[in-house]
Amino acid sequence: MTLTMPDTLESLQLGQVIDGVERPGDRVLEVRNPGRRSEIVGTVVDGTLEDVEAAVAAAVAAARGWAATTPEERIALFARIADEIDAAAEDLATLVARENGSVRSIIRRELIGASHAFRDIEGYLAEKLAPRDYPSGTPGSFVRVERKPFGVVACIVPWNAPLILTANKIAPALAAGNAIVLKPSPFAPLGVTLIGRIAASILPAGVVNIVNGGGEVGGAITSHPEVRKISFTGGGETARHIMRAAAEQLKGVHFELGGNDPAIVLDDADLEVTVDRIVDSAFRRSGQVCFAVKRIYVPQAQAEEFRRLLVERVDRIAVGDPLDERATMGPVNNEGQLTKVQGLLERTQAAGRDVRVLGTKLSPEQWEEGLFSLPAVVLDAQQDDEIVREEQFGPILPVIAYETEEEAIALANDTEYGLCSSVWSRSPSTPSRSRRASRPA
Ligand code: NAD
Repeated sequence: MTLTMPDTLESLQLGQVIDGVERPGDRVLEVRNPGRRSEIVGTVVDGTLEDVEAAVAAAVAAARGWAATTPEERIALFARIADEIDAAAEDLATLVARENGSVRSIIRRELIGASHAFRDIEGYLAEKLAPRDYPSGTPGSFVRVERKPFGVVACIVPWNAPLILTANKIAPALAAGNAIVLKPSPFAPLGVTLIGRIAASILPAGVVNIVNGGGEVGGAITSHPEVRKISFTGGGETARHIMRAAAEQLKGVHFELGGNDPAIVLDDADLEVTVDRIVDSAFRRSGQVCFAVKRIYVPQAQAEEFRRLLVERVDRIAVGDPLDERATMGPVNNEGQLTKVQGLLERTQAAGRDVRVLGTKLSPEQWEEGLFSLPAVVLDAQQDDEIVREEQFGPILPVIAYETEEEAIALANDTEYGLCSSVWSRSPSTPSRSRRASRPA
C-alpha cells in the first residue's frame, strides 16, 4: 500500500510503515476519544517483534544511502515534508484533538511548530553539523571535529504533545543523516503515524519506519543491537528501563523526561500578569505538559492577593469537548491519568488542605462519558505534600507561601526532578524589595 495521505481522517485504520510501504497486521489498537469514550477515532496495527526486526533491517539498509545525501538535498526534501504538514494541518488538528484531548487551537499551534521543525533545518545543519577545527597545541596541526550519523536512531514519543515532540525528535535525527524507527504512544498514535508517513513518503524508502505498539515494542526497538542511538521522551520509569538495556550495548541515549517545575513569584511581580501567564502554562493541555508550572512559591505578604487572583482566573477555565470552540481545557488523555489526578485530589482534600475545584463544565451531559477533570488549586500547600513532591501531570496546582527569597530558592530546588523553572518579577535585572532590604548598607 502506498503512503499517500488518506482521503478522510474519519475512522482511520493505519498500518506500520516499513521500508516505504504500509504493512497491515492481525491485531489492532483502538484509539478512543478521551472526551467521548464510546467514540473510536481510529486504529493502528499493534506491532510484533517481527515488525520491529523488519523496521530495523529496513533502516539499516537505507541509512548509508541517506547519510550520503547532501545538506541541500535534505533541505529540499524537508521543505516538501513541511508543505505537506501545512496542507494537512486543518484535518490533522481535528484528528489529534480527538485522540489526544487537548483543545484544537493548541494542536493547531503544535502543527505550526511541527512544520517549522522540518522547514528550518538549514540553520541546524550549519550550526550543529559543520566541521569545527581546534588548535591541537602542536604547531602546524589542528584537531577537526566532524559529526557523523549514528546509523539507526530509535525515536520513542509520548502522547501529551505528540506532534511537536515527534517533529522535534525526528527532524534533527533525519537531518543529521540517520534513518529512524519511530514508535508513537498507544494513547495518541494516529497523528504521529500520519506525520511519520508524510516524511516516509517523501524520503527514500526505509529512512523513516514506524512501528506502533506499547512497551514491549518500544523495548524491542530500543534494545535492538542495530539501533545505535535512542531518542526518548516520556516518564522516568520508562527511561530507567531503556537506560539499563542501552548500558548493556553501550549505546547513546537522549532523554527528555518529566518535571516538577517550580514558579517563584518575587515580591515586585505584577500579580495580575503573573497569574494570567502561570495559569496559561499550568492548565494548558489539562496540565499534561512536561515543563508546565507545577508548583508556585509566593511571598507571604502577597499570598492572599495572589490566591484571590488565582482562584478568579482558574475559575474562568471552560472544560469541554476538545472540538468545542468555547472550551479552554479538554479532558485528560487516558484513564490512568484521570485515576492519578483524582487520587491526588482526594488525598490532598483528605489531608485537610484548602483545595478549590473551579472552572465550568461546558457540556455536563457529556461529562460522565469523557475523562474530564475540573481545574483545581491547593491554596495552602506545604513542601512535603504529595501534590508538591510529585509531578502531578494534571490540572491541579499547589501554592506555597514563603518568607524569604533564599527559602523560596531552596524549596524550588528541593526536588528530584530537573527540567524547567521560572522566576516572576517586574524587573528581572533589579533585586526585589526583600533582597534590597536585606542588603547591608
Ligand atoms: P511513558 O514513559 O509511559 O511512555 C513514553 C513512550 O515510551 C511511549 O511511546 C511508550 O509506549 C514507550 N514505552 C513504554 N515502555 C517502554 C519500554 N520499556 N521501552 C521503550 N519504550 C517504552 O510516558 P507517557 O505517559 O507517554 O508521557 C508522560 C511523561 O512524559 C511525563 O512524565 C512527562 O513529563 C514526560 N514528558 C517529557 C517531555 C520533555 O520534553 N521533557 C515532554 C513530554 C512528556
